[in-house]
Amino acid sequence: MNSTFTIALPKGRLGDVALKRLQAAGMAKEVNPSSRRLVFNDVSQAIRYMIVKPIDVITYVEQGVADIGIIGRDGILEAEADIYELMDLGFGQCRFAIAGLKDNMKIQKDETLRVATKYPRFTKTYFKNKGQKIIIIPLNGSVELAPLVGLSDVIVDIVETGNTLKANGLEIITPIQDISAKLISNRASYRFKYERIRHIIRLLDQTKEANT
Ligand code: AMP
Repeated sequence: MNSTFTIALPKGRLGDVALKRLQAAGMAKEVNPSSRRLVFNDVSQAIRYMIVKPIDVITYVEQGVADIGIIGRDGILEAEADIYELMDLGFGQCRFAIAGLKDNMKIQKDETLRVATKYPRFTKTYFKNKGQKIIIIPLNGSVELAPLVGLSDVIVDIVETGNTLKANGLEIITPIQDISAKLISNRASYRFKYERIRHIIRLLDQTKEANT
């Protein structure tokens, strides 16, 4: 086999589905997400798997420490990184949306809107293009709390089932964009390890139907 090939996988919800998909394709057999190990070596296929925080997948791939990775498109949009998007994987479907309290659903264009989000860069660009003045309230999680306690007027976040919004008396004001999981590649790896990457894409393509 040729030199070791590295794949960055996200921890958590998206990572669990990604791993099932890889395993259905005959890969990542020895990766155990419930272990505390962060690196798994598949010697027979000469593939190294790294388990990282979802948003960090893009950093490992952009820097070339990982050749390819799996990440939600939300992370790609936020990072604005210099990587290739190779393939839509058909899972992790959700969407970016503006949400707020049910009885406070109007966005006044002439007022500065306070927006809480884990996606400050994406949010800034979105509202700039809309000509809406905003103040970003950057948060790292539980963004839904911000409008409830008066920290923000609205939130920009990813919504899957809508259950979290509903449980907190929030509603979608404006859907922004559908997103799903993507296979991404380092630019140089795509050039120099093209055959291996195409092979993995073919394997993942074959298992698409069975796993979505
Ligand atoms: P839900 O209640 O299913 O709409 O999920 C909303 C919560 O889960 C929010 O806190 C989101 O930030 C988070 N979330 C939604 N979709 C995803 C996803 N595909 N991957 C990771 N987190 C997500």
